[in-house]
Amino acid sequence: MKSINTLNLLMEASCAGGLKSQCQVARRVTETWADANLFCAACTSDRIRSLPHNTQAIDFACPSCSAPFQLKAGRVWNERKIPDAGYHAMMRALASDRVPNLLVMQYTPDWNVRNLLVIPSFFFAPSAIERRPPLAPTARRAGWIGCNILLSKIADVGKIKVVANGMPIDASAVRGQYATVRPLATLDVRARGWTLDVLRLVKKLSKRRFSLSEAYEFAPELSKLHPNNRNVEPKIRQQLQVLRDMGLLRFVSRGEYEVLR
Ligand SMILES: [Zn+2]
Repeated sequence: MKSINTLNLLMEASCAGGLKSQCQVARRVTETWADANLFCAACTSDRIRSLPHNTQAIDFACPSCSAPFQLKAGRVWNERKIPDAGYHAMMRALASDRVPNLLVMQYTPDWNVRNLLVIPSFFFAPSAIERRPPLAPTARRAGWIGCNILLSKIADVGKIKVVANGMPIDASAVRGQYATVRPLATLDVRARGWTLDVLRLVKKLSKRRFSLSEAYEFAPELSKLHPNNRNVEPKIRQQLQVLRDMGLLRFVSRGEYEVLR
C-alpha cells in the first residue's frame, strides 16, 4: 500500500499538448493526475482508474471495489456550490441511487493540487441539488436546465478532505472517515434525505452534546425541505435514532445526545 506522504500534488501539464480550449486542458491535466496518483477512499486500493469518456457522469472507477467517482476541478474554490450537469438527469440518478462519489478539486495556476475533497455518493440528498434557470432561447441548448451541487447543504462529515491547503491528508484517515459514515449507504435512498438533513443540522450546532429541544429548533428548516411531512418533531426523533443506530450519535440520557467522531 502506498503511503500518502508520497502523494505528488504537482500535476503534469505536458499531457495536454495539442489541446486548445482551456476547459479541455484542465480536464486532461486533472484526470491524468488523478489516474496516476489517487487512491480509493472506499477500500484499500492505491489507485482509481479513468473510464472511457461519456460513461454517464462517471470519470473513474476503483479497480478493486468498483466504487465510481466523478471529478470536478477548478482554480476557483467555492465551498458553497459547484455547477453540475443536467438537473433532471441528476434527480433521476439520485432517485435510483446511481450518483458517483464526487471528487472536488481546487488547483493553483501552476497546476498544484491545493484542495481535494471526496464526498461519498450517499451524501447527496435532493436538498443539496439546486435547479438552475433554463438556458435562454438564444443559447445553443435553449431551455436546457442545469443544476448546482450545494456543498453548503452537505454535512461536514460527508466532505472528506484528501488535500487541505496544499497538505495531503493521510490515506488511512481518509478511509477511516469514509468507513465511519458508510452505514448511511445502507439506508433506503428515499429515507436517506431526512437522515442527511438532520445529520447536517446536528453537525452545524458544533457541539459535542445537544438536547432534543435544540434539535427541534431545526423544525422550520426541515419543514421547508420536506413540505409533505406534517409531523416534523416525531420525524426528528426518529432520525436521531437512525443516526444512533448508524453509530454517529449516542443517547446520553433522556433528551440528551452526543455526537460521535
Ligand atoms: Zn475501492
